[in-house]
Amino acid sequence: MRIGCPREIKNHEYRVGLTPESAFELTTHGHEVLIEAGAGEGIGAADAQYRQAGAAIADSAADIFAACDMMVKVKEPQPEERVQLREGQILYTYLHLAPDPAQTADLVKAGVTAIAYETVTGPGGRLPLLTPMSQVAGRMSIQAGATALEKVHGGRGVLLGGVPGVMPGKVAVIGGGVVGFNAAQMAVGLGAQVTILDRNPAVLETVGTHFENRAATRFANRTNIYESVCEADLVIGAVLIPGAAAPKLVAQETLKDMKRGAVLVDVAIDQGGCFDTSHPTTHDDPTYVQDGIVHYCVANMPGAVARTSTYALNNVTLPHALRIADLGWQEAMRTDPHLAAGLNVHAGHVTYPAVAQELGYDL
Ligand code: NAD
Repeated sequence: MRIGCPREIKNHEYRVGLTPESAFELTTHGHEVLIEAGAGEGIGAADAQYRQAGAAIADSAADIFAACDMMVKVKEPQPEERVQLREGQILYTYLHLAPDPAQTADLVKAGVTAIAYETVTGPGGRLPLLTPMSQVAGRMSIQAGATALEKVHGGRGVLLGGVPGVMPGKVAVIGGGVVGFNAAQMAVGLGAQVTILDRNPAVLETVGTHFENRAATRFANRTNIYESVCEADLVIGAVLIPGAAAPKLVAQETLKDMKRGAVLVDVAIDQGGCFDTSHPTTHDDPTYVQDGIVHYCVANMPGAVARTSTYALNNVTLPHALRIADLGWQEAMRTDPHLAAGLNVHAGHVTYPAVAQELGYDL
C-alpha cells in the first residue's frame, strides 16, 4: 500500500502522523511511504531521517493526497485538505466529527474511508488512542501548575516540593482517571502533598492501592471538593463524563475562600471545563488571574510537547496502521472489532452511530 503523511497545517500543530521509526516499520513491511518535506520539523525529525527509513519525500501535500491509498495524520483534515481527499482513500487520524458538521459533510462528499483515532476501542471499553494524550496532559498539568505558582505568573510563590525545613505545596487532583493518575504521579514525584478526589469507588481503590501513603484519596462529594480546593496551592481539574460536558465542580464563590495566588489547571477545558470561571486559553497566553486565582486552561496541552506526544501517539496508532496496510481496511476491521469501532465515514455514509445521530445522518 502507498501511505502518505502530510505536514500538519492546523494552527500551532507541531506533531506529525508518522515518526521516522514508524515509517521504517511500514517500509520494512513492503509498503511505500511518502512524507511531505519538513513534516517532521516540529518534532526534530529531518527529511534525511525519513529517507533513511526508506520513505520518499514529496515537495507538496497535494502530491501526497493525489498519490496515496492511506493518509496518516494527527489532526482532523482542514478545509484545504478535505477537498483533496478522494473516493476509496483511507484517512486515519483524529476526527472529532460530532461537533463538526462541516467536516463531516466534506468527508461524506469525498467518499473517503475515515477512521477516527478517538473512537477506536480497547478491552474493557477503553479508548487506547486517546490515552497517551491524557497521560501527556496529566503529567504536563503539574509542570504548568508549578510554573503558574511562581510570583511572576501571579501565583503564590510556592515551590511544590518545598525544601528541608519548609512544608511542600498541596495539590488537589479532581478526577483519578488517566489525567488525574498521571498528574498525581508527577506531583508525588516532586514531593508535594497530594489528594486525589474521585466519585468512582473503583478508581479510588486503584489509585489508593497504587499510591498507598504517598497520596491521600477522598470521595468527591461537594464538601470534600470544597475543603480540598480551599486547602490547595494547586488544583488539577481532570474529570470526564464520557460524551457529556464536564460537570462544574468549583463555583465562582469558592474562589474567595481559596488561598490568594493558588492555581487552577483545568485539563477538562476541552469538554467545557470543570471550574465555573474557566475559559479556554492558548499556549501563547496560557494563564489569566480571576478573583485572585491563577487559571491555566489550555485545550491542546499535548501540542506543547510535540515530540513526546508524537512518539506516544505513534506507539498506539502504528500497530493498526500496519494491519490496515498489510490486510486492507476491510479485513483488518473484520478481524479486529476494536479497530472497526474507529470507522466513522465510508463511501458517502456516516457509519458511526453517535455521529450520525448527532448530525442527523441515516446510518
Ligand atoms: P478518564 O475517564 O480516564 O478519567 C476521568 C475521571 O473523572 C474518572 O475516574 C471519573 O470517575 C472521574 N469523574 C467523573 N465525574 C466526576 C466528578 N463529578 N467528581 C470527581 N470525579 C469525577 O478521563 P481522562 O482521560 O483522565 O480525561 C480527563 C479530561 O481531560 C477529559 O475531559 C479529557 O478530554 C481531558 N483532556 C484534556 C487535554 C488537554 O489538552 N486539555 C488532553 C487530554 C485529555
